[in-house]
Amino acid sequence: MKVSSVVVIGAGIGGIAAAAHLARRGLHVTVVEKNSRPGGRCDFFTRDGHDFDVGPTLFLMPLVFEAEFAVLGASMHEMLDLQRVDPTYRLVFDDGSGFSLTSDLKSMREQLEPIEPGSFAGFLHYLDEGNRHYQIAMERLVNRDFRTASQFFCLRNLPLLFSLKPLVPHYRHMSAFFKEPRLKAAFTFQDAYMGLSPFETPATFSMMSFTELAHGAWYPRGGMYQVVEALMAIANQAGVEFEFDAEVERIEVHGSVASGVTLFDGRRLEADVVLANADLPYVYHDLLPDVDLAEDLSHKRFSCSTINFFWGIDQPIQGLGPHTLFLADDYRENFESIQRLEWPRNPSLYVHAPSRLDPAKAPPSQDTLIAIVPVGHLDETDQQDWGGMRDQARQAVFDRLATIGVTGLEAHLKFEVSYNPLSWRKRYNLMKGATHGLSHNLLQMGYLRPRNRHPRYHNLYFVGASTHPGTGVPTALVSARLAAERITDELGVGEC
Ligand SMILES: Cc1cc2nc3c(=O)[nH]c(=O)nc-3n(C[C@H](O)[C@H](O)[C@H](O)COP(=O)(O)OP(=O)(O)OC[C@H]3O[C@@H](n4cnc5c(N)ncnc54)[C@H](O)[C@@H]3O)c2cc1C
Repeated sequence: MKVSSVVVIGAGIGGIAAAAHLARRGLHVTVVEKNSRPGGRCDFFTRDGHDFDVGPTLFLMPLVFEAEFAVLGASMHEMLDLQRVDPTYRLVFDDGSGFSLTSDLKSMREQLEPIEPGSFAGFLHYLDEGNRHYQIAMERLVNRDFRTASQFFCLRNLPLLFSLKPLVPHYRHMSAFFKEPRLKAAFTFQDAYMGLSPFETPATFSMMSFTELAHGAWYPRGGMYQVVEALMAIANQAGVEFEFDAEVERIEVHGSVASGVTLFDGRRLEADVVLANADLPYVYHDLLPDVDLAEDLSHKRFSCSTINFFWGIDQPIQGLGPHTLFLADDYRENFESIQRLEWPRNPSLYVHAPSRLDPAKAPPSQDTLIAIVPVGHLDETDQQDWGGMRDQARQAVFDRLATIGVTGLEAHLKFEVSYNPLSWRKRYNLMKGATHGLSHNLLQMGYLRPRNRHPRYHNLYFVGASTHPGTGVPTALVSARLAAERITDELGVGEC
């Protein structure tokens, strides 16, 4: 029997994992990646002895990782040396006050009650609801795909409108648990991990705060790139072939069939199946001829972007934990300006000091810092002043660090590398430089999110952040399994 061949465009988390699933089912799989190494947004670089995770810094939803590694025939615990990070973060408000998010309930009570009397009961109630949302959403929405409209819009799913509160904006729903705006912010900023605004995100997303505290935030020793290394080992063992520095120029299509890809170096790779892991709106826009479909997608909502700073520091920074989140008191204005694609007056931002978790991340007696400032994505003009915004973002990080006593950092910078939305677009072909791809509002979830098979080309499939179920490293693993299941079902190869 002829072995079916698959070309995967992109070696991001979803591309590598899907390739491994398919190769384990006996398909001949080649992954072509434009960059010189795998990982996509889950990237890594090192400079002068300082190690930087470029995209993800938080290993969340460990149960999903565990389950997805198991389906790939591997043990997450054997492949990754995980340590729990608890307290998960230090949250800091504008005046420098704050609290530490921890799974230690006694400590949470002691920290929350002085901020708002009675808030500990609200916190427990919120976690309880987050638990319900997590269990239901994982089973009914995330861990499965929707190949037909009737699988999504069915009577059985009707109760989800009540149980998951998808029609209620997350922030507004927080009044059921807290009065204090700072606490409402503290338990909704997790939406920003997915590039979302809590003023628009469905209240369903309380599942993120729940999983973070109940299942924990973890750190794979060596950094998040260890996840990429582990997946590459699985894929290589399954027989996947990888080609790096191999950028696809277009997907070849005839009638309702995709017959392969053409690379920028002129080579043509034929395949029975094409699986695109590159950002889905970019694939429609740049790699396919259908202008109408690309145009439809460009009107969808995109997630925000970020300005990232990667700093090598010539001395250790005192008084800073591994993950610090600085939340703006004017929380709403912050998200609204991001949505208007304007510079936020006082941005909320995040600072990561990896050497608190792994001393090898910085040379002895020095430090390594990553700061992430969420900003709007690229606009239509492509003329935004990213140099100016980078300078404002840098100053905002210095100002916020000063509120917790970290001053004079500028004088100790050995070097700075920074990324802005143009960098995200150039390096990973992310449409509009939106770091998390298509947004997850109500109209872009479940069956309403672009699905993992193209509507016109029956053997062209998608995997990754802008398709179902959505953004994040664990979610990309789920997306990979669902896409691979669909491909093998439709090729008649059987279940993955
Ligand atoms: C700043 C930032 C912080 C984040 N923080 C977290 C976090 O803490 N935790 C978490 O779980 N998630 C986080 N994420 C999200 C997470 O990184 C992504 O959702 C996930 O890595 C996306 O994987 P993917 O499978 O969609 O592939 P991608 O990472 O998009 O990879 C696609 C690959 O396709 C390649 N490609 C594109 N075009 C072509 C072409 N024409 N030819 C060949 N190859 C091509 C790209 O180079 C890339 O390697 C973060 C993301 C960013 C940017």
